[in-house]
Amino acid sequence: MPNIVVIGAGVSGLTSALLLARDKKNKVAVVARHMPGDYDIEYTSPWAGANVLPMATEANSRWERETWPEMKRLAAEVPEAGIHFQKAWVLRKGGEPTDDGKGRLSDALFDENPWYKSIMSDFKDLPADKIPPGIQSGSEFTSVCINTALYLPYLVGQCRALGVVFRRAALNHISEAADFAGLEAQADGTTAATASPEDVIIVNCSGLLSCRLGGVMDSKVQPARGQVVVIREELSPMLALDRVDDEAGQRNSELLYNMLRPGGGGTIVGGTYQVGNWESQPDPNTAVRLLTRLANTHPQLVAEGKTAADLSIIRQGVGLRPYRAGGVRLETEKIALEQKPSAQVWVVHNYGHAGWGYQGSYGCAKRVVELVDEVVGGKFTAKL
Ligand code: FAD
Repeated sequence: MPNIVVIGAGVSGLTSALLLARDKKNKVAVVARHMPGDYDIEYTSPWAGANVLPMATEANSRWERETWPEMKRLAAEVPEAGIHFQKAWVLRKGGEPTDDGKGRLSDALFDENPWYKSIMSDFKDLPADKIPPGIQSGSEFTSVCINTALYLPYLVGQCRALGVVFRRAALNHISEAADFAGLEAQADGTTAATASPEDVIIVNCSGLLSCRLGGVMDSKVQPARGQVVVIREELSPMLALDRVDDEAGQRNSELLYNMLRPGGGGTIVGGTYQVGNWESQPDPNTAVRLLTRLANTHPQLVAEGKTAADLSIIRQGVGLRPYRAGGVRLETEKIALEQKPSAQVWVVHNYGHAGWGYQGSYGCAKRVVELVDEVVGGKFTAKL
């Protein structure tokens, strides 16, 4: 029986653990410094909106393409997952897509004829009379919003139902995960390893902290800071705008989006995308700009004549997206155990999802299962 230890209890770790545990031959443990219920600047998943607005190019669309059917199923059939359908409006101010911050955002989300039309079945262009002032064009389709405060505990529950064992630990080095091989719950409620550290496959879902985890120290990983405000008003549709410009007409690091979390979770108003910025505290001036931009653009607020000052704030927040230059790391690696350098074990990495960790979660976790199966099936051999 493969002993699998997943590092991380964010959406990437929990979804990977869930899909791995669905195969009864796997024995799965999750070891994490932060768990659902925690709000910490080094733990991204609770801070996400989160919705499904495809961002990848068609060539890289596998993760989002494979996640959407499961998100739809959960929204339609599993209310306790905390996911509901919501109409999305994608708004374009226009200009050429660029990565240098001058044109519109380069996400495929804003393409006029995007690949995801084929999976978002009711995708259509917005009629001119619905398009807010200052916007050139827009599209409309049905997406989902995930209340992360409900969904992350739901994932923990699904994992526990399949026998996954959870353990709090702050690892200094990735190979320390091997000390939890074959983790089992004991009669007194504690947990204990039951297998040798050499008999383990480690799945690394350490998110942003992969830049600090010994044995990984991935210098391509840095935060993309996202500041949000959560308000009580129920707003529909959810909006996403392709550019927010500064006074000189240059796109800046701020965004305009909103989404209504199901189950009384409030409306998330975003946001920012500030690469390299570790600041954990919300900036009050930014918050005012986010709310003002929303009040000036959202058709419901415009129709009601509401301004930013009318909005009822639940809280402000900052989350750090695990941005990775070059994209997500989804691959195997063989590492030596620090505690026994003559022994080597396989690691499957799944981190660096930037702003799409939820909407790509099932696709990436499926790839983790494939990679683990390859390791187990002898295409690779765990011993040198
Ligand atoms: P995390 O959630 O950070 O989890 C990492 C886990 O690894 C934690 O449990 C941590 O404790 C553990 N860990 C790390 N290092 C160690 C260690 N040394 N020892 C033990 N444990 C360790 N995505 C979407 O799909 N849709 C959205 O609408 C969306 N909106 C967003 C809005 C904002 C404001 C932000 C900030 C993010 C948004 N995202 C969205 C992105 C999404 O939140 C992330 O991509 C995702 O949460 C990353 O999850 P993760 O599991 O990889 O990392």
